[in-house]
Amino acid sequence: MRSNLQFPIYLDNNATTPVDPRVLQEFLPYYQQHFGNAASRTHAYGWMAEEAVELARERVARLIGAVPQEIVFTSGATEGVNLAIKGVAEMYQGKGNHIITCVTEHKAVIDTCKHLEKKGVEITWLPVNAAGLPDLQELEQAIRPTTILLAMMYANNETGVILPIAAIGQIAKKHGVLFFTDATQAVGKLPVAVQADGIDLLTLSAHKFYGPKGVGALYVRRRDPRVKLTPQLDGGGHERGMRSGTLNVPGIVGLGKAAELCRVEMPAESIRLEQLRNLLQENLLSLPGVELNGDPLNRLPHTLNLSFADRDSNSLLLHFNKTIALSAGSACTSATLEPSYVLKAMGFPDQRAYSALRFGLGRFTTEEEIMQVIQLFREFYPSVNTTGKTTTI
Ligand SMILES: *Cc1c(COP(=O)(O)O)cnc(C)c1O
Repeated sequence: MRSNLQFPIYLDNNATTPVDPRVLQEFLPYYQQHFGNAASRTHAYGWMAEEAVELARERVARLIGAVPQEIVFTSGATEGVNLAIKGVAEMYQGKGNHIITCVTEHKAVIDTCKHLEKKGVEITWLPVNAAGLPDLQELEQAIRPTTILLAMMYANNETGVILPIAAIGQIAKKHGVLFFTDATQAVGKLPVAVQADGIDLLTLSAHKFYGPKGVGALYVRRRDPRVKLTPQLDGGGHERGMRSGTLNVPGIVGLGKAAELCRVEMPAESIRLEQLRNLLQENLLSLPGVELNGDPLNRLPHTLNLSFADRDSNSLLLHFNKTIALSAGSACTSATLEPSYVLKAMGFPDQRAYSALRFGLGRFTTEEEIMQVIQLFREFYPSVNTTGKTTTI
């Protein structure tokens, strides 16, 4: 049988995705023929760049149910997180100095909140249950008269667990508190709708949905309520004063095209990915001692997080690194040997966190690849003695 398999098989799409060839084709001309500065108002080079940026703004807005004027281009989700949280903390300090977030947030949110905590902002760190979900009653009870912001991610990057965003949005609205969501893993994968979900601020990143790296956007609600932010970069006043700096026109064009492709292809793509993910899940869960991490129902369709009993993530990664590109959790912590703080926060014993692997499927993942991955795991298992205890693998 002829095989098109290329090794290692890429299953780390939650860390980053390859650029879709259709996206690449759309943005390449903006490096050379159409290299203009989108802020140049005096000639056709500038107009051309500006027009392309505005088309991208419409496409990003459409993907999340916003209007174009609510989109602020950034260098990615990390910048969006910093701008949203620090920008709100500074702008609304007259109203209060309390922010509510969750222990399983991405490091971008956690470290931004820790930074503010050192400067005197009060942070409530909500715990999660074994499924990775916060308790909404506890969330509501944590709101004080001085609370200015809820920062709760849309879907977790390690487990794929999706939070009850619309319910959180309702709680925020009821108490007159702003709601920011880090939707970096959800946008392009789930139908995100800022109006229906009551979201006031949302960050997204192109490289998580087949666009280029180093470009993203922050959605900032314009009415009911009109959200204001203190800019974190001072300069030429680009992006309605919220984010100064010459726009990354090729990146933004790529982000726009990537958003458009996701909007059109998401319904079919998410069904296909969920089927492939479930195929992988069922087969790997049938191996001895393998356990699923994260709520089985409220989960991104392309994400699977499993623990492998007595095995250890790092040796599993070492064993498979020529055949499968995987990670133990987030890319940001994969350089350390620390077990996942997300899994530990779910109350699992250390061993369960130490033995976890994340499988992130993507647009270019094929059924043949998934069958091959299942095969590789099956072949790996008989080599382990019957007690399942291993010193080396
Ligand atoms: C990848 C990721 C980020 C960081 O995005 P960058 O664009 O790489 O800065 C933030 N939050 C979540 C949930 C992510 O998955």
